[in-house]
Amino acid sequence: MSISGFIKSALERVSRNPASHVLDGLSGLSPRQRLQRAIDDIRGTMCPTARLALLLIDLDRFKLVNDLCGPAKGDAVLSIVAHDRLGRMHAARTLHLAADEFVCLLPFAEQDEDVAVGFAQQVQQVIGEPIHMGQHVIHLTTSIGLVTEDGPGRSADDLLHAASVALSHARQAGGDTVGRFSPDMFIDLGNRAELENDLRSSMMRGEILPYYQPIVRLDSGQPKGFEALVRWHHPRQGLIGPDRFLPIADDMGLDRDMLFMLLRQVCRDARNWPPHFTVSINISPSQLCDPDNAVMLLQILFASGLAPGRLIVEITESALIHNLASAQETIRSLRNTGIRVALDDFGTGYASLSRLCNLEIDHLKIDRTLIQSLNREAGRKLVKAVVDLGRSLSMPVTAEGIETPEQAQFLRDLDCTFGQGYYFGRPAPVTVAKASLLDLPA
Ligand code: C2E
Ligand code: CA
Ligand code: CA
Repeated sequence: MSISGFIKSALERVSRNPASHVLDGLSGLSPRQRLQRAIDDIRGTMCPTARLALLLIDLDRFKLVNDLCGPAKGDAVLSIVAHDRLGRMHAARTLHLAADEFVCLLPFAEQDEDVAVGFAQQVQQVIGEPIHMGQHVIHLTTSIGLVTEDGPGRSADDLLHAASVALSHARQAGGDTVGRFSPDMFIDLGNRAELENDLRSSMMRGEILPYYQPIVRLDSGQPKGFEALVRWHHPRQGLIGPDRFLPIADDMGLDRDMLFMLLRQVCRDARNWPPHFTVSINISPSQLCDPDNAVMLLQILFASGLAPGRLIVEITESALIHNLASAQETIRSLRNTGIRVALDDFGTGYASLSRLCNLEIDHLKIDRTLIQSLNREAGRKLVKAVVDLGRSLSMPVTAEGIETPEQAQFLRDLDCTFGQGYYFGRPAPVTVAKASLLDLPA
């Protein structure tokens, strides 16, 4: 959905959605009127120097919960969120806005704006507590758009509009985030609107393409393959990284087309590399949970003639949290053909050891934030623990984000198998990446 469409639909949901109900019993009014009424009520009880914060709360990827458990249990989950979780947040008034969206209205003292941010984080925490639904354990994450009044008397529409803009920022940041409204966000929205307009045509013109970053064997310094990282050569804005445009592709429903387009290109490129070279691609949690994607991915791979053993698919833990069964099914069908699967960004999220043991994966990739912490004793211990863990599970470990010879040496001393990072080479276009193979540091 486009940004303007998103804001418009948020406002329309308040005005039209007959299914919305308010938790505090303001019945008989349209949802929009209820929101305005709730705001008026609260203002009536606030001291004159107090301000109001509006939090627009959106459950991330809730569709996956419905897909996983079915709509009846999805409704039960929503009811738990509404009553059991948000019902505990006594400082605020809560309204159920639309299927998986809620609004909290929180009065706060004028000089104490951080209270609203702390409150938003508490909301994320209580909603994030595991929900047991039959054989499933659901860990929800939330994105929150937060707006605090800078003066008295802003209308419900006004506040909701600002909160919607802040929410779309939080979602663009990958979800599980609190976006706090600032007027600058409207400028970002303008940029985003430009990217939205251009994305489809850029895909058709081949302006979205893989860059390649080398992955090396740490003991010998020999390259073992590349990770493909997507880039956009934007006609006016120059080179744009994935963090800026993948969320847009996702919102516009273009992410599958982009995955398949990149995969075709990656397979074509990799066929020209030495035959023992692997190529890694990233697939997002929602792509991993859709079994149709595995079928398409295999079709593209087989049509390209690239040996499946040369392809590594990198996945992140969040897919496993949201929909373990579907993720496992996709992983299994990929691995059955000889494709290998790596767990990316390991060490940042929630991958519990028990989950890791049950997963059918081939590699671990240590997140670069852990490598950045190697200058501290605790960081070194943690990295050593992860490398040891990989070894005890017989999984080769790749350390990402290696930037210095000291980091490379430390990891080599730990017998970490592979390394990747600016020290060995930055992501580069295919021709540059291939040519750079001869210049890697030992
Ligand atoms: P990632 O999979 O963890 O990729 C590694 C990121 O770390 C890349 O950022 C890479 O440029 C950066 N990096 C590599 N070495 C170093 C280093 O030594 N220091 C520092 N500071 N950074 C380093 P990039 O290319 O911006 O990609 C960001 C994320 O976007 C990736 O994180 C991956 O999750 C996602 N991504 C990239 N390409 C694709 C894609 O084609 N599909 C999907 N679904 N996600 C992608
Ligand atoms: Ca990756
Ligand atoms: Ca990573």
